[in-house]
Amino acid sequence: MASWIAELKEIVGSEDVITDPEQLLVYECDGLSIHKHLPSAVVFPESAEEVANVVKVLWRHRVPFLARGAGTGLSGGAVAVEGGVILELARMNRILEIDYENQLAVVEPGVINLMLTRAVADAGYFYAPDPSSQMACTLGGNVAENAGGPHCLKYGMTVHHILGLDVVLPDGEIVTLGGHGTDAIGYDLLGLFIGSEGTFGIATKITVRLTRRPQAVKTLLADFLSVEDASRAVSAIIAAGILPSALEMMDRATIEAVEASVYAAGLPTDAAAVLLIEVDGLAASVEYDAGRIFEICRANGARQILVARDEGERARLWAGRKGAFGALGRISPDLMVQDAVIPRSKLPEVLPEIYRIAARYGLRMANVFHAGDGNLHPNICFDGRNPDEVQRVKEACREIMELCVRVGGSLTGEHGVGLDKIAYMPLVFTEDDLEAMARVRAVFDPEGLCNPGKVLPVRRCRAF
Ligand SMILES: Cc1cc2nc3c(=O)[nH]c(=O)nc-3n(C[C@H](O)[C@H](O)[C@H](O)COP(=O)(O)OP(=O)(O)OC[C@H]3O[C@@H](n4cnc5c(N)ncnc54)[C@H](O)[C@@H]3O)c2cc1C
Repeated sequence: MASWIAELKEIVGSEDVITDPEQLLVYECDGLSIHKHLPSAVVFPESAEEVANVVKVLWRHRVPFLARGAGTGLSGGAVAVEGGVILELARMNRILEIDYENQLAVVEPGVINLMLTRAVADAGYFYAPDPSSQMACTLGGNVAENAGGPHCLKYGMTVHHILGLDVVLPDGEIVTLGGHGTDAIGYDLLGLFIGSEGTFGIATKITVRLTRRPQAVKTLLADFLSVEDASRAVSAIIAAGILPSALEMMDRATIEAVEASVYAAGLPTDAAAVLLIEVDGLAASVEYDAGRIFEICRANGARQILVARDEGERARLWAGRKGAFGALGRISPDLMVQDAVIPRSKLPEVLPEIYRIAARYGLRMANVFHAGDGNLHPNICFDGRNPDEVQRVKEACREIMELCVRVGGSLTGEHGVGLDKIAYMPLVFTEDDLEAMARVRAVFDPEGLCNPGKVLPVRRCRAF
């Protein structure tokens, strides 16, 4: 047994350090099963001090490490390459403070996103960023990935809702970034940390903004006989100056999977695509906007437009949307959930091309995505046991990324670069850009021990 393992056991207790290969298998991948690496150990700290002490030991012994929340990441970010150690933060799941007067809460990183909204719901508040994985993903993981979600179109991404962080740096020092809502003086290190995909340190305490529930909400479902018509409706709604709180698209393959699953929401299985559109705010403006959306969808070829009659119907439609990835998981042993972003106006041009790419590689494609943001999720159903199919998935993904970049888009809307998109980084960044990023990273982590192998191509720097 390596001496540092004994040291870790002294910090957290021997029960809370896993080294048995069979148990480690659980941690060999995150939500994206195409990237698999076994960690050398998994540690379960229960406090910031334990995290700092564990990190100090690993830093001293030059052992790579990374934090893991719920492992729902879809870019291979929470996977330990180079035999690193995983710090599993699920036990740090306490809501430490709720302060309605200042509309904020202080939480540990392992708090599950939806649990925070549930904790403040009776007081009329919610936590706005709502990834479709919100029943499982943690706020620490959300900070690391700058997570988005359906309602980020109106409310903004995670970065717009984080006021402060306590962070264990890669050498074990604990620092505070940002604060309790007052503007911090100096460089925006808080903004820099959010979305750094766990490569700058480990967040151990998070101060989040709470948002007041809107007076009224209306949820509409519009169905279309072509994906292009649905795409044109998306652009037309935004061009009309309306800002829905959510504007999501599901194509026929997704609808069929949802309707065949426990998330069945009564979606029309003969439609080419549906738009799930939500508006919220003052009751009068919600009525007005919903009416205009109705007209715009009709003018762009919507066949039927359904308005959720009550909270039950609304919840059912959202369960269908948020359960869509899970439903797709029934179709094949593996699912490649891709994530790219394009200018919204390019949707009618890009979506048909994505289907063509999948067809050329003989792959089954389903699209479910945050259409209002131009944030695409082309999902490829495949069997990871078939090497030829895996290769075709990789080639199709590269073509999709090239296409998105060509029309002025980028590699990730919300899931991060992780391991998965490193190879595509040169599509959008020059050598100099990458070099500059590597230098920023080295300020936080000069030894390259914190979540190595992620975000930046390997040749950038000795450690990654
Ligand atoms: C069904 C499904 C739907 C999804 N929908 C969305 C969506 O709508 N929007 C969206 O943005 N994402 C979505 N995701 C992706 C994923 O849920 C998010 O990226 C989420 O933020 C990951 O949180 P996690 O706790 O699971 O993090 P993990 O997967 O455990 O980790 C993700 C990254 O964060 C780092 N990390 C974790 N905790 C910390 C910490 N405390 N400090 C520093 N780094 C840390 C890890 O090292 C890793 O690099 C979805 C995933 C699934 C499976």
